[in-house]
Amino acid sequence: TQDSLDLRDHIRGIPDFPKPGILFYDISTLLRHGPAWRVAMARLARAIRPYKPDLLAGIESRGFLVAAPLALELGLGFVMLRKPRKLPGATVGLDYALEYGTDRIEMQADAVQPGQRVVLLDDLLATGGTMGAGIRLLRQAGAEVPAAAALIELTFLGGRGKLDVPFESLLQYD
Ligand code: 5GP
Repeated sequence: TQDSLDLRDHIRGIPDFPKPGILFYDISTLLRHGPAWRVAMARLARAIRPYKPDLLAGIESRGFLVAAPLALELGLGFVMLRKPRKLPGATVGLDYALEYGTDRIEMQADAVQPGQRVVLLDDLLATGGTMGAGIRLLRQAGAEVPAAAALIELTFLGGRGKLDVPFESLLQYD
């Protein structure tokens, strides 16, 4: 049944991707399995509904795959946080530190209204750097961020400790 479906059976770990020594959790196998993907989205919808979002946001690119169906499920709109220079019109952005170097995310300047409750989504939380930057950018634009969520959390990296909002995940790996 739906309740007993183990999402773990639909995620595979691929060694040495994108670099030697890294075990990459691949969600492609979950995406291509219709019933399991549906269960994953239903469970995530249940987890974030209590935060009463007005809008969802997803981080490019696998975060879009999560945020778009959830927005439909919850009857909400969804906003894209993208890599630099991808979005047309006026944008706001934020530079953030990586292990080596920096990265940047952007969103359209008029994407959120001041005071709107925006829940931020990605496929996976590792160090929390990406999610943390997304939260800061949304706030910079005037949004309230009541929670963040992902399908997968790599608990051994302690990413949730870097976030100052409640964080929900469906699967944890350590
Ligand atoms: P963080 O900023 O938390 O260290 O890294 C999270 C970001 O990197 C997310 O946007 C996520 O898509 C990507 N990422 C890092 N490791 C993995 C992985 O093992 N599997 C997948 N699917 N994404 C990963």
